[in-house]
Amino acid sequence: MEDIKILKSLVDEIRDFRQEIDTLRITPEPSNLNCRNEIQKRFDLETGAELQELFNGVTQLLRRSTIHVTHPRNFGNFNPSVTLPSIIGDALAALYNPQLAVWAHASASLEFENKVLNLFKERFGYDVESSIANFTTGGAEANLSAVVTALTHYFPGYGEEGLVGLDKQPVIYIANGGHESFVKAAHVTGLGRNHIRLVRTTPSHQIDLEELRKKIEKDRTKSRFPLMVVGTAGTTAMGTIDPLEELGALCQKEKTWLHVDAAWGGAAILSDQLKEHLKGIELADSITCDAHKWLSVPMGAGMFFCRHRKAVLRAFRISTDYMPEKTEGRTDPYNSTIQWSRRNIGLKVFMSLAALGRQGMAGLLEHQARMGEYLRSSLISKGWEITNLSPFPLVCFTHPKLQNSEKEIKRVADAIVDSGEAWISNVRLTDGRPSLKACITSFQTQEKDVDHLVELLSRFI
Ligand SMILES: *Cc1c(COP(=O)(O)O)cnc(C)c1O
Repeated sequence: MEDIKILKSLVDEIRDFRQEIDTLRITPEPSNLNCRNEIQKRFDLETGAELQELFNGVTQLLRRSTIHVTHPRNFGNFNPSVTLPSIIGDALAALYNPQLAVWAHASASLEFENKVLNLFKERFGYDVESSIANFTTGGAEANLSAVVTALTHYFPGYGEEGLVGLDKQPVIYIANGGHESFVKAAHVTGLGRNHIRLVRTTPSHQIDLEELRKKIEKDRTKSRFPLMVVGTAGTTAMGTIDPLEELGALCQKEKTWLHVDAAWGGAAILSDQLKEHLKGIELADSITCDAHKWLSVPMGAGMFFCRHRKAVLRAFRISTDYMPEKTEGRTDPYNSTIQWSRRNIGLKVFMSLAALGRQGMAGLLEHQARMGEYLRSSLISKGWEITNLSPFPLVCFTHPKLQNSEKEIKRVADAIVDSGEAWISNVRLTDGRPSLKACITSFQTQEKDVDHLVELLSRFI
C-alpha cells in the first residue's frame, strides 16, 4: 500500500507540474534563492526520513528554488521543455538501470539508441554502415570526442607517446563566437589552450574564410599542423550558421578535419523545411548534435557522429580481463567512447521520437521556428531592432532608446528576469556590441507568450 501511495504522488507531480508550469514564477523569489540553510535544517542524512515526507519536501524546494526552464516563457538558452514520452523514457532508464558499457548486457537499450543514431546519420548524409556514432552526456563530451579522434586519425602515435611524441604542434581553428568547450578540449588533450586559433567573423557574423586560409597558411610556414576546423551550426550567442559547404571544400583542399558543432542547430536536420540551413553538414568528418537542446528531452543527452569509424575505435580502444567478451559484429561502448559505465542516455530520445514520429518532432521544430519569426516581427513593429541573422528561432535585439549601452541593456534583461514572468538574457555580439537575446526554447511557447514578453519589454525599456 505504502508503495502505491508514493508512486501515485510521483505520477501526480508529473501531471500537476506540467499543468501548472505557466502559472509559476520562472525565477525563484529572491528570498528563495539561497536554500542552503533550509536544506541543512530540514533534511537529516544521518537518521533518514519517511519517504512521502521526503518527497513532499524535495518537490517543494525544487519548485521554489529552481529557474524553471520548462516554462513556456523561458526564452533562455536552449534548455528545453521536455516531452512526456522523454520523461517516461528517462524514468525507465532509472528503473531498469541497464549498463550500456557492453552490448551483450544491454542489447535492447543499445539498439534503441542505434535506431535513433541511424536516423540522424541518414539525415546528416552519412553512410550508416561505415560511420560511427554514440550518445554522450552533452555537446562538450561530443566535441572532446572529436578532438581526440582527429588527433588519433592524423597521428597514429599520439595514443602511445602523447603530444610530446609529435613532430608538429596541432592547431584548431574556430570562429570568434564558437563554443568554448573546445578550449577545455585543448586543455584536456594536452593540445594547449594557446593552440586554439580564434578566426575573425564577417559582417554577417560567420567565420571569415579568407582569414581562416591565412591563419592556416601562417601556421604551416611555422611547421604547425592544422588539425581541425570547427564550423558552428547555430552559435550559442547569435544562432549563426557558418558556411558549411565552403568550409567542407576548404578542409578537403587543406586536408584538415572538419568538425561541425551543431549542438543546438543540428536537430533541424529532422525537418524537411529547416534542414536546408544545414547544407554542407554531410561534408563534416564529425558532428556534434545535442538531443537535450532542440529535441526537447531531459538533460543530459548529446550525440557524436564520425565518418572515420576506425579512428574512433582506435582512439577509445581498451582491453581488460574483467569485462565480458565482445559480441561479434557489435560495438561495446566502453571500447568505442570516452565513458565507461554508461546510462541509457538515448532511451528518452528514442521514446520521444518513436511516440511523436520524425514528422511530429519536425512539427515541433517548425512551430518553434514560426514563433521565432513571430517574435522578430512583433519586436520590429514595436520599434526594436534585430541585431543577428539566424534562420533558427534565436533573436538578438536592441532599441534605439537603449543607445547600445551595455548597462541599459542588462538593466532590461534583469528587470524581466526579476519579474518572474519571463526569462531572457543579454549577450555581446561577435562584433562586441551588447544586445538582448530571446530564444524560442520551449515547444509549448505560443503567440500569447511572445506577446507577453514584448509587452514586458515595452514596460521596462
Ligand atoms: C551547448 C553547446 C555546447 C555544449 O554542449 P553541452 O551539451 O552543454 O555540453 C557546445 N557547442 C554549442 C554550439 C552549444 O550550443
